[in-house]
Amino acid sequence: MRLLVRKKYFLHIFIFLLLCLYTVTVEMRPGRVYFVVQHLLFRQSLLALLQYLAVFGLTVGSVQVLLFNKSRLIRYLFLLALFPFLLVSLSYRFITGYNYWYADAQTALGNLSLAPEAISNFNLHIGLGLISCCLILLVFVVAARKSKGLYSPWLSLLLIPATLLSYWYINRSTGGTDDFPALYRVPLSTLLAAKHALPLGNRQEVTAAPLNSGARHIFMIVDESITGSALSLNGATMNTTPYLKANTNQIINFGIASSATNYSAGSNIALLSGLRLSDMPDKKRKALTAASIFQYAKQAGYTTYFIDAQLGRGMLQNYMSPQDLNYIDHFIQPSEEDPSLPYYQRDFVVADKLIQLSGSEEKVFVYVNKAGAHWPYARTYPPDSVFFRPVLAERSMLKDREKSLNTYFNAIRWTVDSFWQKLIPAISPTDRTVIIYTSDHGQDLSGDGISMAHASSQHTKPIEANVPLWLLDKSGFLGIKTQPTMHTRSHEQIFPTLLLLQGYDSTFVKTRFGNSLLDEVPNSRRYFYTGDIFGRGTSTKVPFKVTGF
Ligand SMILES: [Zn+2]
Repeated sequence: MRLLVRKKYFLHIFIFLLLCLYTVTVEMRPGRVYFVVQHLLFRQSLLALLQYLAVFGLTVGSVQVLLFNKSRLIRYLFLLALFPFLLVSLSYRFITGYNYWYADAQTALGNLSLAPEAISNFNLHIGLGLISCCLILLVFVVAARKSKGLYSPWLSLLLIPATLLSYWYINRSTGGTDDFPALYRVPLSTLLAAKHALPLGNRQEVTAAPLNSGARHIFMIVDESITGSALSLNGATMNTTPYLKANTNQIINFGIASSATNYSAGSNIALLSGLRLSDMPDKKRKALTAASIFQYAKQAGYTTYFIDAQLGRGMLQNYMSPQDLNYIDHFIQPSEEDPSLPYYQRDFVVADKLIQLSGSEEKVFVYVNKAGAHWPYARTYPPDSVFFRPVLAERSMLKDREKSLNTYFNAIRWTVDSFWQKLIPAISPTDRTVIIYTSDHGQDLSGDGISMAHASSQHTKPIEANVPLWLLDKSGFLGIKTQPTMHTRSHEQIFPTLLLLQGYDSTFVKTRFGNSLLDEVPNSRRYFYTGDIFGRGTSTKVPFKVTGF
């Protein structure tokens, strides 16, 4: 008798583990287990990981009691409900290489009008999804039949807490972690994406007209995860930017600036739309409805370029919409043009393009999202460019502080210093090119690599918004004769500067968008935002101060 009980006990665990294995390999995105464990354990906390595992376990457990339910009606209702969700999930896997998730839900909902076209384009993939879905359901039916029902119909009520908790979890991570069985992930991510939907693609027209012809070539370079105070140019003790430090006189260095937010999307959309701190949290959706910098550039007669060195496949990020592309003449993703390009070479392809454009006869405006030093740092520089040791392995899970810092410093040496070493000598003063350079946010590497390095929403340190800011103006277009006061500026002054460079009236610019980098800025307190800039979750205004790395 005891043996029988024990055997049954093992059977439940065995089925549970089998279903977990099935969920992570078939229903979830490939590689997500690694990512989720790494992200939650090392960038958040052990508690965060346990919380996720508890919700994941509950959702798989609920699938188990539904599938092996003693009530045949419940079993078949479950399979019937699972069918459409599994079909969507697997079809996406055949189309994109991974199962449907929150970001896909957002894209799909934003482009519902294109659904018939998408279905006819991908009918082969959807067909494969359908066949796989039927095969899986067939295996489920056979297994459930053979077991002759293991669980009481009452246990199917587990569906309720599993739904509520996974909804809470996906909502709390604003879709970032929705790695649950398709039965939950597909409907709940879609529901939440609909709830979080933003009015993308409804920008106002530019009404102002430029007063003068502006600078001939304007390059706005937004680097990725570069902390201002980690640069020896700005006083860091580690020799991270030897070239820039020796060539300080070539640039107009504002030192350490504060970024608009401590995460990529928030800072970039603020830079693109001229959103100011006083507009945040942006409940009026100004960042999505005001004219973008590309629209102003087009109005001023520029040929516009958007170079995204981070993504491929024409994917858009940072709240940009397909309608924004209407004002972009050339949308370039280096990884798409050459899929074999190593990650650490992407910024150098960007540099080549900028050098080429700086010599062109036409007026050019370029907005660049550099690949920069986004985690994992080890992929952002060539293996033979290790200057600081010991370093982390490229897919390292354990991050001791010294290794994290060394790897990050190597990344800066390559992706910032070597990048500029290539760019500066190649830009001629006669090209009339003006470059503004900053980063989207900084990195907090003080927490042994266990805590989040940026985008934290609690106990956020100012270093997460600590970014470099300088100009390259070899032709002296801006007429800045002396080096500016260091460490007093913020992202907020970049949009007005770009408008002045494009030739817009300074009074219009100042009234509408505030001080530019050309204005003396009173040394007032600076702030930045954490959390969703649209105020859809918790968002906090955090005081900024300059700290060492
Ligand atoms: Zn970023």
